[in-house]
Amino acid sequence: APQLKIKDFGVSIEGKEILKNFSLDIKGGEIHAIMGPNGTGKSTLASSLMGHPSYEVTAGSVELDGEDVLDMEVDERARAGLFLAMQYPSEISGVTTADFLRSAINANREEGDEISLMKFIRTLDEKMNVLEMDNSFSQRYLNEGFSGGEKKRNEILQMLMLQPRVCILDEIDSGLDIDALKVVSKGVNDLRSPDRAFLIITHYQRLLNYITPDFVHVMMQGRIVKSGGPELAQRLEAEGYDWIKQELGIKD
Ligand code: ADP
Ligand code: MG
Ligand code: MG
Repeated sequence: APQLKIKDFGVSIEGKEILKNFSLDIKGGEIHAIMGPNGTGKSTLASSLMGHPSYEVTAGSVELDGEDVLDMEVDERARAGLFLAMQYPSEISGVTTADFLRSAINANREEGDEISLMKFIRTLDEKMNVLEMDNSFSQRYLNEGFSGGEKKRNEILQMLMLQPRVCILDEIDSGLDIDALKVVSKGVNDLRSPDRAFLIITHYQRLLNYITPDFVHVMMQGRIVKSGGPELAQRLEAEGYDWIKQELGIKD
């Protein structure tokens, strides 16, 4: 089972410090939710864990099963089992969703161990069924002209196909209607396993009605300021973030 250890992580963008003393341990089988107001560095956390080049790591360590993640290239991080489902996935012209998925699967495999076309098609069919996606979808160019909901579903489809060990979801619920939210949650719950860990970033409690987290963390000013169970998310939904700011003496 995977173990992700983030310790005293510091990240800057264009010289501006965004993450500061961010620490979190995530183990296989666990679902951690991170909630927090806009602009607190949630997406920065997700992107810098994946090795996005715009983010400069200034402090701390990130280890996956004792291996130094910060020392890995982006593709190595994916091969190690890290996956990010994004808030704003990018469009790729001329590459179909199916081709993209097959390349992504094979990029994570050793040479000579590529997935067979038959097996790929069978798996793709099965996963698209789980997500109630139309078959024609896989032949469309990746994210090109996809609606917001289709993009998010497609991110979850990638996750179901790649079976990553550590799944990070960044505001996958934003802009989804209830039906799409249920389908996306079904995909996540389908993947839930002792051999897999989830870090679910969300602005709203709504998603957590369908995916029950083990831990809820509140992020403010680039670090975790409060942790609890699902009840913490419910309190945030009811009362917002002001009571935490008051508790901590944070002014915005
Ligand atoms: P959240 O996901 O919690 O809303 P972000 O991680 O997106 O927060 O942003 C954290 C802070 O970093 C914000 O103040 C934002 O303006 C800033 N920021 C994010 N991305 C960039 C960027 N590419 N260039 C400059 N500043 C950025
Ligand atoms: Mg945001
Ligand atoms: Mg964000």
